[in-house]
This record gives sequence, structure tokens and C-alpha cells, in this order.
Amino acid sequence: MQVRVLLQITPDDGAPGSVDEIAAWDKTATVAEDIGLSLAEGKKLLSAAQRRIVEAQAAAWVEGRRCCDDCGRRAILKGRHPIVYHTLFGDVALASPRFHRCRCRGNIGAATNSPLVTIIPHHVAPERLYLEARWASLVPYATAAELLADVLPIATGANATTVRQHVLRVAERLEAELPADKCTFMTGVPADWADLPIPDGRIVVGLDGGYVRDWDERKTNFEVIVGRSMPEDGPSRYLGFVHGHDRKPKRRLIDVLESQGVQANQDITFLTDGGKEILALTDRISPCSEHVLDWFHITMKITVLGQFVKGVAHLDALAGAQLEEDLARIKWKLWHGNSIEALELIDRFENDVSDIRADYPNLRKFEVLAREFGVYIASNAESLINYGERYRAGERISSAFVEATVNAVVSKRFAKKQQMQWTRTGAHLLLQTRTRTLDGTLRSAFERWYPGMANDNVDHAHQIQVA
Ligand SMILES: [Zn+2]
Repeated sequence: MQVRVLLQITPDDGAPGSVDEIAAWDKTATVAEDIGLSLAEGKKLLSAAQRRIVEAQAAAWVEGRRCCDDCGRRAILKGRHPIVYHTLFGDVALASPRFHRCRCRGNIGAATNSPLVTIIPHHVAPERLYLEARWASLVPYATAAELLADVLPIATGANATTVRQHVLRVAERLEAELPADKCTFMTGVPADWADLPIPDGRIVVGLDGGYVRDWDERKTNFEVIVGRSMPEDGPSRYLGFVHGHDRKPKRRLIDVLESQGVQANQDITFLTDGGKEILALTDRISPCSEHVLDWFHITMKITVLGQFVKGVAHLDALAGAQLEEDLARIKWKLWHGNSIEALELIDRFENDVSDIRADYPNLRKFEVLAREFGVYIASNAESLINYGERYRAGERISSAFVEATVNAVVSKRFAKKQQMQWTRTGAHLLLQTRTRTLDGTLRSAFERWYPGMANDNVDHAHQIQVA
């Protein structure tokens, strides 16, 4: 069976249209793989159609801008320079014309103008930019390039370097939208708050740090801070930045909260590990915010101490049992937010550890950790809450979900294990597209920039969201 695919293009200006054969195949089916279009045939068909459509549209656009707005005279061609328009269905080579300024304008304005520059200034189709940003946020640049080239007719131009350049350009645009830093997002004065509608329930924001390998000093890591903001109802959002590199971290956090409709009178709980940088980030964000030392980090430290206790118990059962009981009581007091009694018990625990007579090889380490735990609880005493009560009320008391976020946002893409190395700028920018890819807001950014993309009749609900 013979198959011919014809493409008809009819211009708006009434000029005669054209009908081109863009593909022809013998599609006689003898085996399963003969049925329908193959990937190669599909790519060929799409790229042939795309090339003709883009050429026709570019020509129509240029022609529509050739005559002078003032006198109607046709502009004189100065020359053409080759450009390549990168689309999802192929890279289309175009000769971009440059016209002389109209005589009626004298010396006013630019001496020449290139109409195509105004419609495709960056030579990349928005949807291609979107898919490159989306995929490169999920997998390494080279893999993203291969993936796109596998399924789309874009073999040329789809390489790690180009994809990286495009993605970083998207990230820079996102960054440029972030206003200058400000200390608090509370607008107006407390008297105005009475006019605010009754806020939604408490919003919980978990913040934590992760590490990626430094490109410049290969043996070292630098810190990235990652957060997840979870309203009671509605989708959660991610944020991420390179600590010490980002100049508006607080503004970034506020931006996320504002995008979720958080009001001045709404309760916000920041769950963190008590680190100083993160505390500074959450400071004075809102009068209704509280900072809570997250239970996950407390219980992790107690678990580690418990392992030392077990080691002691092997050598001295009585001392081990006493320490185990101490630790259980400390955990109980902390669970109920009773920091004063907890600190007294930790003090006694430290003494009991120092009194261990058994020949326990890790004793020194145990003593240091016990003391550090006391300092940790003492310095975060104000951030302890009655975890038990909150837990029974069904509220989040642990940012274990943030641990998962650090893994989801950082480890899986910035993969320390794979020896990937990053510059601070590169990591910071990729974090911007990655956090938006993971929480599903990258698409809405593109639809804001390119409203036509929103008209696309496609259901994007299937897009992945990390739980
Ligand atoms: Zn003119």
C-alpha cells in the first residue's frame, strides 16, 4: 500500500496556497512493526511539516512588517543572516532578513531592523525550552538531551551543552522575577489584619540542608538549603537555594508562601533542625509564625545515644539498664516539650556516662555526644513544643518529609555518589527549575510567559509530583 502525506498551506492574505508532498511510503504490512508509522517515519513527517510551517509563518511575519508604518513604502533589504530556530519538531534553518530604515524617518531610530528578532529573539521555541527545562531538572543534562532526541526529530542541537544553556536561561528568568529581599511579608499594620478573611489552617514549612560536591574544590561540598511548604489543603511547594550564594533567601521563602495564599494572620510552623542559618531565614517572617525544633532530628540523636547505651550494656548490664531508663525519660520529657526537666535529666545522664567504669572502647565518643546533645537541647529550648499534644491533634511535628525532600530535590539530581560536581551558580539555578518541576509549577511559569501555551488542549494533570 502506498501512503502519501500532503501539506496544504493557505496564507491569510489571499495569495495562492501550496500543497506539498512531505512524505511518501510503501506501507504494505507483513509484520507487526510495519503497522502504522515507525518512530523514524514519525520524526521525518513532523520535521518536514514543521519546516514548511515555520518557513511560511516566518515569511508571512516578515512580509507583514516590511512596509513603513508612516508612509507605507516597502523597506529595502540590506541582507539576510542565517539563524536556526530550535523547535520540538526539528531545528529549522531560516534566513532572517534585515531591512534599512525607511527614508521618511531620517536619522531617527535604528538604521536597520530584523523583524524575526522581535518574534523569536532567542531562537528557541517556548515548548522546547519548557521540555528541556523539565527533563533536565529530572535527569542529567546529557540524558535529557538523549531522551528528547530519542523521541523527537531534534538530533542536531540536542546535546548536553545546549540543553544546559537553555535550562539556565529559564532559571535566570525565574530568578529575575524574584523581587529584592524584604524581611517580612506582612503588609500593612496589625489594625488592618481585622479586615483579612479568616485564614486557612496552619501551614507547615520544613527546612533542611543538603550537600553537593564543589566543582572548584573537588574534595569539598557546599550546602544547599531545601524546603517544602505544606498547607493543610492544597498542593505543597518546594524551594531550594545554595547557602551563602543566594542573596535573597528570605524573599524566596516569602514568595513561596505568598503563592500559596498565606495571609498575615495565618499560623505558620517552621520545622527545622535548629541550624542558625535556617533560623535566621525564618526569623520575623510573620507575627503568627513559630519555630519548632523538629522531632525527627531530636529522635535521631536519641537513637544514636541509644546505640552507645547498648554497647555499654554488653559490658555492664546494670549501668546499661540505668542509662537506658534515663534516655527513655529524657525522650518522654522532650516529647511533652518539658525542656527544663529534660535538661536536668540530660545533665544527670552526662554524669552517669562519665561515671561508667566498664572498659567501653567508645566511651570518649559517647561522652562527647551526650554533652553535645545537652547543648543542642539547651540552645533550642525555646523551639521545643508539646509534640505529644500536637501529634494527637493530628498536626505535623516532624520534618522527616523534609529529609525526603532533600533526597528528592538534591540527592537524586545532584548525586554525590555519581561524582557530579557543581558550581554554586549552576547548582543554584538548576535548583530553581528542579523545585518547580517537582511541585508542578514550572508549567504555570511558562504559561505566564507564553500565554499561548495555556491554550494548548492538553491535560497536564499527569505530570509527576513528588509525594
Ligand atoms: Zn516611511
